[in-house]
Amino acid sequence: MTTHDLTLIAASDRSSLPAEPFSARHLIDGNWCDSADGGVFERHSPAHGVLVTRASSGGVAETEAAIKAARRAFDDGRWSSLGGKDRATLLLRVADLIDRERGRIALMETLESGKPISQAKAEIEGAADLWRYAASLARSLYGDSHNALGSDMLGMVLKEPVGVASIITPWNFPFLIVSQKLPFALAAGCTAIVKPSELTPATTVMLGELLLEAGLPAGVVNIVLGHGQPVGALMTTHADVDMVSFTGSTAVGKSIVASASATLKKVSLELGGKNPQVVFADADIDSAVDAIVFGIYFNAGECCNSGSRIIVHSDVAEEVTERVIALSRKVPFGDPLNPDTQVGAIVSPEHQSKIDSYVTTAVAEGATIRLGGGPLTVAGLQDQFYQPTVISGVTSGMAIAREEVFGPVLSVLQFDTFDEAIALANDAAYGLSAGVWSENVHTCLEFTRRVRAGTVWTNTWMDGFAELPFGGMKESGLGRELGRYGLEEYLEVKTVQMRIGRTRAPWVSNR
Ligand code: NAD
Repeated sequence: MTTHDLTLIAASDRSSLPAEPFSARHLIDGNWCDSADGGVFERHSPAHGVLVTRASSGGVAETEAAIKAARRAFDDGRWSSLGGKDRATLLLRVADLIDRERGRIALMETLESGKPISQAKAEIEGAADLWRYAASLARSLYGDSHNALGSDMLGMVLKEPVGVASIITPWNFPFLIVSQKLPFALAAGCTAIVKPSELTPATTVMLGELLLEAGLPAGVVNIVLGHGQPVGALMTTHADVDMVSFTGSTAVGKSIVASASATLKKVSLELGGKNPQVVFADADIDSAVDAIVFGIYFNAGECCNSGSRIIVHSDVAEEVTERVIALSRKVPFGDPLNPDTQVGAIVSPEHQSKIDSYVTTAVAEGATIRLGGGPLTVAGLQDQFYQPTVISGVTSGMAIAREEVFGPVLSVLQFDTFDEAIALANDAAYGLSAGVWSENVHTCLEFTRRVRAGTVWTNTWMDGFAELPFGGMKESGLGRELGRYGLEEYLEVKTVQMRIGRTRAPWVSNR
């Protein structure tokens, strides 16, 4: 295939590339600071190769100082003892400030991650909505009361903040993911230490600026920039941390469970996925094809919810594959700064090679490349793009059918019976999300019941709402974000039993 067959958007306006890199520093106890050893790391825009961020590189000293600050702030009640109304007021102020800074944050998100600017703007808008939703939860924190335990007893179940939360985030949706965690932790009354990915530190720092401007007390949110070692690791082992909320790879998630076990911290994990879209022969093929193309190319496939395998009834498999290929050619790949671009750059050269090696292995295992299958050159930009890729003849034993490729690479599998479709959909270590396409409501409901996934979409793909919990089964994670369940992750339960009157029969006879 030549790339002439694709829709490419060459480099255009370079005027929004920064003349100077963004300077990102740690936020510890209300102060912006450099690392004690002066360490820094840099981030270049994956699409343009321009230095966009220079960040302080945290070590043990900064991480310990941030944890101590969060501990002090929690223990003295400067945040947790505020009423829900006051906490909500501050979260709403942050949401307004995010709206005000939307353009600036979105540009930085695009420059660091390589995602299209129109998508980045939508994500920042969505993030502001999460802060508003969490504000509503801050005003409806309640437990249970038990008034039927006997005439002399009243029982109460109180909800209290867990305490100090370590929040560790990945590079693919930096601002959105921190906003799926932090406002919920704050609504609950927790304090936090936040570590963004070393590839995308800037927008979390921008959020820190807005938190201070909104009037958040010092020490309630601390930000440490740097790598998994030592920053992330210490955040998961330190005795002063009560819980860890992590989004990232399943491999690191498993290591966090192990390291947090020494102090039995609560752990909440949002990990990888190998999400199937199952297309039955009676599906609305037009809608299914569009959703398949969206599901695989959104965020260049660097998405935990990527619909990276489709499982199609053999009667329509060739038609669906051909139509997906035709539509894939129309998806605008290219300069993330161009508002018409829908798919941008791959986050790093290492990740680009990893994507490519999955494709090479699939071919060696007997699969067929139907579209793409290699790096993509876009005029005027770095060599960090990957072609829209469709691979058919994939069987469930192949690595490409089981492992998270995290790129714009679609695997096509086939089935003949409903049971076969369910078996294929469930044949993965992951269980994040799944989709079903059929005009028969019974088929959709039966699929919904039998598929092992935290989210099931029927005749749609990748919609999301602040009100609806999100998370995974099996090796896709532990716990849930968003909705009331997202708040519950940051709450402890305390049981209170109160005797009414002095009628209790003595345990020891004192006669
Ligand atoms: P990653 O696991 O490499 O890194 C995630 C974060 O963990 C980064 O901040 C990193 O510095 C930190 N980290 C690395 N080693 C650590 C350690 N030993 N202890 C503590 N922290 C450590 O993941 P990534 O490459 O940044 O992100 C991609 C992965 O994230 C994919 O697997 C994707 O599926 C997953 N993801 C999941 C969801 C979800 O909601 N389920 C959402 C987005 C991304």
